[in-house]
Amino acid sequence: MHYVSTRGAGFGDAPPQPFSAILLEGLAPDGGLAVPESYPRFSAAELNALRPLNYRELALAILSRYFADIPAPDLKSLIDRTYTKANFGSEDITPLRKLDDGLYLLRVSNGPTLAFKDIAMQLLGNLFEYVLGRERATLNIVGATSGDTGPAAEYAMRGKRGISVFMLSPLGKMSPFQTAQMFSLADSNIFNIAIGGVFDDCQDLVKTIGADAAFKRKYRIGTVNSINWARVAAQIVYYFKGYFAATAHEDEEVSFAVPSGNFGNVLAGHVAKEMGLPIRRLIVATNENDVLDEFFKSGRYRVRKTAETVTTSSPSMDISKASNFERFVYDLAGGDAAVVRDLWQQVETRGGFDLAGTPLEARLRDAGFVSGRSTHADRIATIRDVHNRYGVVIDPHTADGWR
Ligand SMILES: *Cc1c(COP(=O)(O)O)cnc(C)c1O
Repeated sequence: MHYVSTRGAGFGDAPPQPFSAILLEGLAPDGGLAVPESYPRFSAAELNALRPLNYRELALAILSRYFADIPAPDLKSLIDRTYTKANFGSEDITPLRKLDDGLYLLRVSNGPTLAFKDIAMQLLGNLFEYVLGRERATLNIVGATSGDTGPAAEYAMRGKRGISVFMLSPLGKMSPFQTAQMFSLADSNIFNIAIGGVFDDCQDLVKTIGADAAFKRKYRIGTVNSINWARVAAQIVYYFKGYFAATAHEDEEVSFAVPSGNFGNVLAGHVAKEMGLPIRRLIVATNENDVLDEFFKSGRYRVRKTAETVTTSSPSMDISKASNFERFVYDLAGGDAAVVRDLWQQVETRGGFDLAGTPLEARLRDAGFVSGRSTHADRIATIRDVHNRYGVVIDPHTADGWR
């Protein structure tokens, strides 16, 4: 299994790379994102064989297909150390809670920082340490956070050999809980830097560093942002786990409603579907920042300006453009990198593109996606309603998905 760039396949710009070569990289040299040359597919019989596996065994069965240049015994030990009851609160790792007939809650936020990002980030910490150790290299991770990513990254990287984390956050703008999570860490490889400004000021600093290739090389700077393929891959596992927990047989279909921001989580669902998991619909849920809802309803992708991005009660979904979205469009284009290049050229020059009237429009309709958007009032009403009916308190992001 090798990886190509969404903008370079077949053009020789970026020759196919093994997994460990793309693990520590951000964007591909041509500006695209790393994608596997193909998705492995499981037959119904193979799916049936995966059904009895526990989370760790399932993760190994799926991730060994994508992390192909990590020897299986090494990958097994990385996975076994990551997905433990001590780390995630139960042997199920992502327990499924039945609320009603045909209605379930997949609990993906039981990791050390109580953000669903822990599921991928905890594995990433162990993968980074392993690959860096093998190459006798070190890495300085520079990131920006408004709340969820920072703690998840720091709890994944704390105490890891060869890795330091420099996390920028807007002074006084994170929740007290997340501030305490981050600022109470005393590990000598974790550096919290509060910036007098808003999240975008932090993000701009990280982007400025990211654009300076020589500086990055000299100081061995990397990121853990949501375009990292290993993060997407790690999230594929709980779609399988959730599917098996909700069904008794492979002829049953399941739909997933996914609160979406950077399109990483729901992209993992799309990949699971491409791998043969019987997923009927993927429901892309957005809040008032509805760039994805607009796209799935109309085929029009219109990136928002920073000033148009509103701060909501589900802040981890407050995005103006969805960074993982390019991987999905690459699949829609049947892996034709020239099409992706053309579309992202339009994003650069015109701030977006419209698939109406193109061959991709029909494929979008057949891709199994639907979408919706919620407002703050919807979320409050949903949280109250779910609590009254089922005695469960859901968070505002979950409420977007529920709605
Ligand atoms: C990050 C995050 C999201 C958005 O996920 P994406 O993978 O960026 O689409 C939604 N909800 C919560 C709680 C998050 O932390």
